[in-house]
Amino acid sequence: MADSRGFSTTPRQTAARRPVDIRIQDWREVYLRIGAFDLERQAGRCMDCGIPFCHHGCPLGNLIPEWNDLVWRKRWQVAAARLHATNNFPEFTGRLCPAPCESACVLGINADPVAIKQVEVEIIDRAYAEGWVTSQSASAAARAAGRPVAVIGSGPAGLAAAQQLTRAGHAVTVFERADLPGGLLRYGIPEFKMEKRLLDRRLAQLKDEGTVFQCGVDAGVDVSVAKLRTGYEALVLACGARVPRGLPVPGSGLAGIHQAMEYLPLANLAALGGTEPAISATGRHVVIIGGGDTGADCLGTAHRQGALSVTQLEILPRPPRQRAASQPWPTYPMIFRVSSAHEEGGERIYAVSTKEFLADDSGRVRALRLVEVDLVGGLAEPRPGTERELACDLVLLAMGFTAAEEGPLVSDLGIRLDERGRVPRGDDYSAAQVPGVFVAGDMGRGQSLIVWAIAEGRSAAAAADRYLTGDSALPAPIRASAGPLMAG
Ligand SMILES: Cc1cc2nc3c(=O)[nH]c(=O)nc-3n(C[C@H](O)[C@H](O)[C@H](O)COP(=O)(O)OP(=O)(O)OC[C@H]3O[C@@H](n4cnc5c(N)ncnc54)[C@H](O)[C@@H]3O)c2cc1C
Ligand code: SF4
Repeated sequence: MADSRGFSTTPRQTAARRPVDIRIQDWREVYLRIGAFDLERQAGRCMDCGIPFCHHGCPLGNLIPEWNDLVWRKRWQVAAARLHATNNFPEFTGRLCPAPCESACVLGINADPVAIKQVEVEIIDRAYAEGWVTSQSASAAARAAGRPVAVIGSGPAGLAAAQQLTRAGHAVTVFERADLPGGLLRYGIPEFKMEKRLLDRRLAQLKDEGTVFQCGVDAGVDVSVAKLRTGYEALVLACGARVPRGLPVPGSGLAGIHQAMEYLPLANLAALGGTEPAISATGRHVVIIGGGDTGADCLGTAHRQGALSVTQLEILPRPPRQRAASQPWPTYPMIFRVSSAHEEGGERIYAVSTKEFLADDSGRVRALRLVEVDLVGGLAEPRPGTERELACDLVLLAMGFTAAEEGPLVSDLGIRLDERGRVPRGDDYSAAQVPGVFVAGDMGRGQSLIVWAIAEGRSAAAAADRYLTGDSALPAPIRASAGPLMAG
C-alpha cells in the first residue's frame, strides 16, 4: 500500500491550467505539470483496496494501485514499466481520457478520488524525459515466424493493434487515408489538448520497431480489397466511425454552416504553422451545436482564432453538479463539467433545439431560430412561445457520429453495417463471416473514447495473432461486447 494515511491527510491535487488570457493567445497545452514531490503524495492517497474498482473502470485494466504505490516509493522507472504493461500510449490517455477510473475509485465514495490520470501522465512524461521509453523489437525468431498483416486506419485503435502485432513478430503495414498517421488524435483533437509532437514521438517508436506506414492510401480504393487479401494474411480494420450526424432543418445548406470535423482538421493544420484555414472563426459570431467534447474542442479553437462571440447549444437539460441517484458510484456519471475550453469564455445554452437557419443577402447564415424544449419520454418537445433568433455567421455542427463509412473497403469485403452503423463482429473482434479480418475501435464499437480504442486495438491484435499462429501471448483486456460500468 502507498501512504497508509495519505487518503485522509493529503487533499486531491491536479495540475493547474495556464492563465486564460495567456493560453488563448497560443496553441500550446493548457495544463502545467505538478512537481515530483506533490505527485508522489497524490499517488500516496491510493488505499490499495482489496477490490480495486478503478481496474474495472479503466477499459485497459491499468494496474493503478501498483503504479500509485511505486510512485509513492519513488520507483518511477518501474512504475513506467507497469504502466506500459497495459497501455501502449499513456501520454494520450493521461491527457485525453475522461478518467472513468476516477469515477470508480473507492476513495470517491465519500471523498475526492485519487488523481489517477494525473499520476499516469506524470509517469509517462518522466519516462520520456529520463530516456526510459525505448523501442521493443521482436526477437529474430518471432520475426522469422511472423506473417504479413495490414492494419487499416491509424487512430488509437489501429496504432495499438499495429504496435502489438509488430512486437509479436508480424510484418505490419498500416494503411492510412490521411497524409499523416494518428486519426482523430491528429486531426480531431486540438493542439491545446494534446500537442502533436507527442503523437509524432510515439510514431517514431512504432516505426523504429518495424511498423511500416503507408499514408495517403485510401484502402479499398487506392489499394483494392483483392490486393489486401492476397498481400496480407490478416487485416485489422480500424477506420473509425466518421459519418457525422446532420441537422436536416431548413437552411442547413447555407454557406457558413460546417461539420466540426470539416473545421477542426483545418484549424489543427493552421495551428502547426499552416496557412490561414478556409473555415475560420476569426471575427465571427460562432454558434456550436452540440454540447459534448467535440463542441468544446470547437469552442477552444474558435477563441484562439479570435471569434467575436461563441455560443454552444445543447438539446439536453443542464446536467446536475453531483451524481444523480440513477448514476451511482462506481459508474461514470453525467454531471456538469467545466472543461478548459469552457473556462476560456463563451455561453452555454441548454435544452434548446434549432428549427432553421436564416440567410443574409449573400446566402450566408446570419442567424438561427431556436426553441426551448422539454424532455418528454426521451423526446425533445418544443415549448410553445419560446422561439427566438440567435445571430451568428459561423455554425459548427458537433452532434456526434452515426456510423462507420460504407465505402468500397467494407462493401468489397462483403460486410454490411449493423443497424447502428457499426461493422458487425464476434466477441473476439473477428468480422462476421470474413475469415482473417478483425475490427477494432469506433468502427466496431461506434463513437467512443481513446481508452476504449486502445483497449480494442490490443485485444484485436491478440485475436489476429491467435488466428495467424494458433496461439497468442498478447494481452486482450476486453471482449468486443464489453461496455462501461453501469448501474445494475
Ligand atoms: C473532435 C473530437 C475530439 C475528441 N476528443 C476526445 C478526447 O478528448 N478523449 C477521448 O477519449 N476521446 C475523444 N474523442 C473520441 C476519440 O478520438 C475516438 O473515439 C478515437 O479516436 C477512435 O479511434 P479509432 O482508432 O477507432 O478511429 P479514428 O481515430 O477515427 O481513426 C480512424 C482512421 O482511419 C482512417 N481511415 C478511414 N477509412 C480508411 C480507409 N479506407 N483507408 C485508410 N484509412 C482509413 C481515417 O483517416 C483515420 O485516420 C474525440 C473525437 C472527436 C471527433
Ligand atoms: S486510461 Fe483513462 S481510465 Fe485508464 S487509468 Fe488512465 S485515465 Fe484512468
